Amino acid sequence: MTLAPNSLQARDLAYHIHPQTDLRRLEKTGPVVITHGKGVYIYDEAGREILDGFSGLGCMTLGYDEPRLAEAAHRQMRALPFAPTFYGRTHPTVVELAEKLSRLAPVPHPKILFQCSGSEANDTAVKLIWYYNNALGRPEKKKIIGRTRGYHGNTVATVSLSGQPHMHARFDPIPLPMFRHLSNPNYYRFHLEGESEEEFSARMAAEFEQMILDEGPDTVAAFFAEPIQSGGGAIFPPAGYWPAMQAVIRKYDMLFVADEVVTGFGRTGNWWGCQTYDLRPDLVSCAKGLTAGHLPMSALMVPEFLYDAMVEQSGEVGVFGHGYTYAGHPVSAAVALETLRIYEEDDIVGHVQAVAPRFQEGMRVLRDHPLVGDVQGIGLFAGLELVKDKRTREPFDPALKVGALVQDLAHDQGLYLRAIGDRINCNPPLIITEVEIDELLRRFKIGLDEAWAAVRKRAA
Ligand code: PLP
Repeated sequence: MTLAPNSLQARDLAYHIHPQTDLRRLEKTGPVVITHGKGVYIYDEAGREILDGFSGLGCMTLGYDEPRLAEAAHRQMRALPFAPTFYGRTHPTVVELAEKLSRLAPVPHPKILFQCSGSEANDTAVKLIWYYNNALGRPEKKKIIGRTRGYHGNTVATVSLSGQPHMHARFDPIPLPMFRHLSNPNYYRFHLEGESEEEFSARMAAEFEQMILDEGPDTVAAFFAEPIQSGGGAIFPPAGYWPAMQAVIRKYDMLFVADEVVTGFGRTGNWWGCQTYDLRPDLVSCAKGLTAGHLPMSALMVPEFLYDAMVEQSGEVGVFGHGYTYAGHPVSAAVALETLRIYEEDDIVGHVQAVAPRFQEGMRVLRDHPLVGDVQGIGLFAGLELVKDKRTREPFDPALKVGALVQDLAHDQGLYLRAIGDRINCNPPLIITEVEIDELLRRFKIGLDEAWAAVRKRAA
């Protein structure tokens, strides 16, 4: 493809650096230019309709034309477009939002600390964990355990915590030395011959405990996890995984942070992934669905005992020396508040529960496809693993980029999905109807069929 010099794509590349992209390839292909959206559909510059099977980046829970959110933003912009939450100041919208979020939280009565992104929420959690252990006089307790293919963001600390080797490559000294990574809980890919899900989960938990013992429990501060790994490729916990992992957490004096950036606000058919999997974290981070993706905002839920330590220590230091200019931004807060009202008034969680069986059954049918080895899912969240040999689970050579091929061919059918290696992540807007789910599945199947034809042609 050659880019016409005046095309939007060429002008974009002249001035704009794109994240999470092969920049060399992009120089040739140019970006996909999206101009507008309606409901669960987005439209490119040629007016082509694309069903958004990935909710933007897992954030567009209410689709692309919810008027209440635009009106809430407009009202707040007219009334008070900015107010700091630094230096002991506040404004009514953020007060109301903190109160509402604390009441909806999956943990009892948390205090809310606002930031602008999921990365910042998790980065703040890391800082608070270190601050807390210093307050308790145990400065050696600083190591944090994450998981391979876990994703918690892209600041220096959160990408170190994330088990994403391609995000560490050539960015050394990332990952920073105080972060550790456990094995990935993808049962389908990593179970041993004859090993049940429960046995696999017990092995994962034993590895976790051994890591704590090897590092020294006095040096391990916390464990971070997404209830379902999203950026790792929609990897769902196998049977017995969370009970076994939480038993280890409880045995040692460490904090548990649940990253609900993707799983929060109804994705799994409950308000929180923590409810779906009966997780009992100490801290919870959330973002994306907090504003239905309409404005940048994230929140960290902080338990009372940690807050109390912060209060004491900030008194000693003279300040709680942390914060972001736009934390608790009035316009983001107004949109978040309106988003939460819509979730409640429209019973979005109930809607997810109602349509999820159609979505999950349709996804499971794709398991019979010759390219698909595994299908997992819950609520409006599904992950498919593509394999060379269904019988032996043999993966494709990564150089073939079969996942990217499925993603591209589905896009040609008007369906936006996300390939992470050879796992396909599908999580459409929560407002999707059964008719739209059928259409999503139809386009997905054709994308898979075409990829299968291309793979066979290459092999012939
Ligand atoms: N945590 C999880 C589970 C995520 O999926 C993401 C982003 O996709 C983040 C954190 C980082 O959020 P942000 O991109 O808003 O910084």
